[in-house]
Amino acid sequence: MSLKSYHTKRNFKESPEPPGKHLHKNQGPPIFVVQRHKASHLHYDFRLEHNGKLKSWAVPKGPSMNPADKRLAMMVEDHPYEYKDFKGVIPSGYGAGIVEIWDKGYYMPLDEDLQPAKSLAAGLKNGHVKILLKGKKLKGIFALIELKSQENGWLLIKDSDEYAVDKPYNSEEYTPKNSPINKALQKSSSTKKRS
Ligand code: MN
Repeated sequence: MSLKSYHTKRNFKESPEPPGKHLHKNQGPPIFVVQRHKASHLHYDFRLEHNGKLKSWAVPKGPSMNPADKRLAMMVEDHPYEYKDFKGVIPSGYGAGIVEIWDKGYYMPLDEDLQPAKSLAAGLKNGHVKILLKGKKLKGIFALIELKSQENGWLLIKDSDEYAVDKPYNSEEYTPKNSPINKALQKSSSTKKRS
């Protein structure tokens, strides 16, 4: 997938999102980022660096550190590498709302026989990606498993390891109360109460 779909969906005169004119040259360990995005619905965007771009999934319920949770992750268009640092307000158009960075770090594909890019490519093709995440919130092994029943549908699942939890996990509880999205949500709910 090229960045064509990313470009056609957006008007960069209106949107502060990165135009992504060039592919990033891979250097060092590949990165991941999770952005919390208040658009028409609040969701999380999970992105993995791959071949100079970010493979991207929208995760409606957010990631979980509990292996019992199978979180639906809808594959969306590739995003430019620079998107990893994007946070702010998209005033109008596609994805209009607020984006904040929920977690970021590095990842390692878990197929030691292959280079990271080749290993992820193989996993994406086979519909079974296994990675080790090194973030602040997301740590340890995760799997992304493609659904046969739903186009672009994948499941994001924590593997059992020393970082896994067995209590219910709600990513919302790991978001600062005063984050830009939470402040906007509080403002709109107090406005509703007053009117
Ligand atoms: Mn999004």
